[in-house]
Amino acid sequence: DPVLTARALTKVYGRGTGAVTALDAVDVDIPRARFTAVMGPSGSGKSTLMHCLAGLDSVTSGTIMLDGDEVSAMSQRRLTRLRRERIGFIFQSFNLVPTLTAAENITLPLDIARQKVDRQRFDQVVEAVGLSDRLSHRPAELSGGQVQRVACARALVGKPAVVFADEPTGNLDSQSTQQVLAILRTSVDELDQSVVMVTHEPDAAAWADTVLFLRDGHVVAELADPSRDHVL
Ligand code: ADP
Ligand code: ADP
Repeated sequence: DPVLTARALTKVYGRGTGAVTALDAVDVDIPRARFTAVMGPSGSGKSTLMHCLAGLDSVTSGTIMLDGDEVSAMSQRRLTRLRRERIGFIFQSFNLVPTLTAAENITLPLDIARQKVDRQRFDQVVEAVGLSDRLSHRPAELSGGQVQRVACARALVGKPAVVFADEPTGNLDSQSTQQVLAILRTSVDELDQSVVMVTHEPDAAAWADTVLFLRDGHVVAELADPSRDHVL
């Protein structure tokens, strides 16, 4: 069964003549332990879809279910808890705390939520992102690619139900881009992580198992196994 589903998901910004329908009755299934990419032109609703699915943004109508819980019906308080405990985020700009070491940045969300750090998971994740020898470094002492790998580890360490990555390679050179995509791929294949990545780069989307294409607030196509078919 899918980890996350949206049914008739509609998001309208503003009201009256200025209203913008960013998502128009969208149905989406995010499969468990798979890598899903979301593509589409600028303004097609990619960010809005991600923000709604992740509980960052309220929906106008429709239903979002995460592992049996209705995200679209949650109070602000429950949404905050959901984002803290069940969702991981990786952004284009890395959002690390400059005064903390890589290790401290990785465990920061757990520390804030007063959750215990699972040592085995921490080691697993640090190994997966290839940062074992950089844990005591601060962000300024790391390359852009290494900083984004810290952000990946931070998103993964709490074993979230879903990791959302919003243009995670948008600020990276091609080598670091490959490393970050390989990390996301590994997290799916070896840690059974469910990953949703918004990107406009076909080369990045080719790493996914499924690609959803948005246009004008609709899902207009769904492509399975993009790398096998070499269509991107
Ligand atoms: P994408 O991520 O594909 O570029 P968005 O989800 O950001 O698309 O935007 C979809 C549509 O919703 C666009 O027309 C955009 O201008 C509009 N939109 C997005 N956020 C807001 C907002 N906070 N207020 C008003 N309109 C918005
Ligand atoms: P992205 O780089 O993800 O496409 P955008 O430039 O679409 O980001 O949007 C950046 C921020 O501005 C987001 O928080 C989005 O919700 C908001 N936004 C986008 N379009 C509009 C709009 N037409 N009116 C108001 N806010 C908007």
